[in-house]
Amino acid sequence: MRIAVFSSKPYDRIFLTRANTAGKHTLSFFDTRLTADTAFMAKGFDGVCAFVNDCLDAAVLEMLYKSGSRLVALRSAGFNHVDLAAAARLGMTIVRVPAYSPHAVAEHAVALLLSLNRMTYRAYNRVREGNFSLDGLLGFDLNGKTVGVVGTGQIGLIFADIMHGFGCQMLAYDPFPNSDAKPFIKYVPLPTLFSKADIISLHCPLTPDTHHLINSDAIAQMKAGVMILNTGRGRVVDTQAVIAGLKSGKIGRLGLDVYEEEEQLFFEDLSEQVISDDQFMRLTTFHNVLITGHQAFFTTEALTNIAETTLANIDAFESGEGAMHQVLNAKCAPQDADGARTAFE
Ligand code: NAD
Repeated sequence: MRIAVFSSKPYDRIFLTRANTAGKHTLSFFDTRLTADTAFMAKGFDGVCAFVNDCLDAAVLEMLYKSGSRLVALRSAGFNHVDLAAAARLGMTIVRVPAYSPHAVAEHAVALLLSLNRMTYRAYNRVREGNFSLDGLLGFDLNGKTVGVVGTGQIGLIFADIMHGFGCQMLAYDPFPNSDAKPFIKYVPLPTLFSKADIISLHCPLTPDTHHLINSDAIAQMKAGVMILNTGRGRVVDTQAVIAGLKSGKIGRLGLDVYEEEEQLFFEDLSEQVISDDQFMRLTTFHNVLITGHQAFFTTEALTNIAETTLANIDAFESGEGAMHQVLNAKCAPQDADGARTAFE
């Protein structure tokens, strides 16, 4: 098949080319994001391969369909950026990578947590400047603290395992409690989790239910000095509300790997440009906020799995044989082909 790979970076080319054994498919790499302005580049291709910040709304899908694409191979687990109803109407197939390395993301959430707690990012800069003062670097023991996990799927459960290893009490909220959850995880209603947790980590998908789950009402229920971590999706957090929470001191530490308006920022080198997103720039001024640019997935193991599953999905679509991780519209089927419980419109 001829596949147009959008938002491709040098590392995508390396891993996808390696997984495309014997050059079975023709992969054309475009570093641009897929949007209504760039969709014309897919003309004549059988399908597109897209990442998390590519636009796959109805208008873009229609443009892709008209120019010959019948397959959208997502290099991500999340599919909140795809208009599944439009895809179903057009008869386009959407496939994804349901699990590439949940360990990568869970471990990155822990990296944010530890760095924020002990302020290692501040210490790094200080020591390089010959400043060995400890003022402002005071952390807390994790042992005995209460950690709340929102979303106990693959990533949330691994994160809970790691934090339990630090001696933390584990609370969780999930509308679909996971039968694989270990006995040390106590499921509680969301308000209980908000009011009892010292650290809250978000591992739910972005859905209409989770959009701005962390808003001013939620923050008001939390403990003073709470640490909030988001490695899920940016729009689960209302940025204005967390800025207010940081200014008031209610939020003690904030770690973000994802951001509401990240489509305009992340994955690009903007160091020579003026960043016009005032809300994002305000976040970067807080000493107790640590932001990474959607890198939680970024491990060798994850990129290998993403590339291999993506190529296997394309093989299966072309041959009509083998496992294909298809995402179905919730109105057409109660769950997606992987049995995921996250299908929504
Ligand atoms: P998963 O599907 O295994 O688990 C998601 C869990 O969230 C499920 O148990 C589901 O029941 C639960 N959930 C659904 N609605 C909820 C709600 N309203 N409140 C609380 N929980 C809810 O997914 P996963 O592989 O664990 O990934 C979780 C999320 O992490 C993904 O949806 C994606 O948005 C994000 N992610 C981020 C990165 C990154 O690099 N930062 C990488 C991969 C995934």
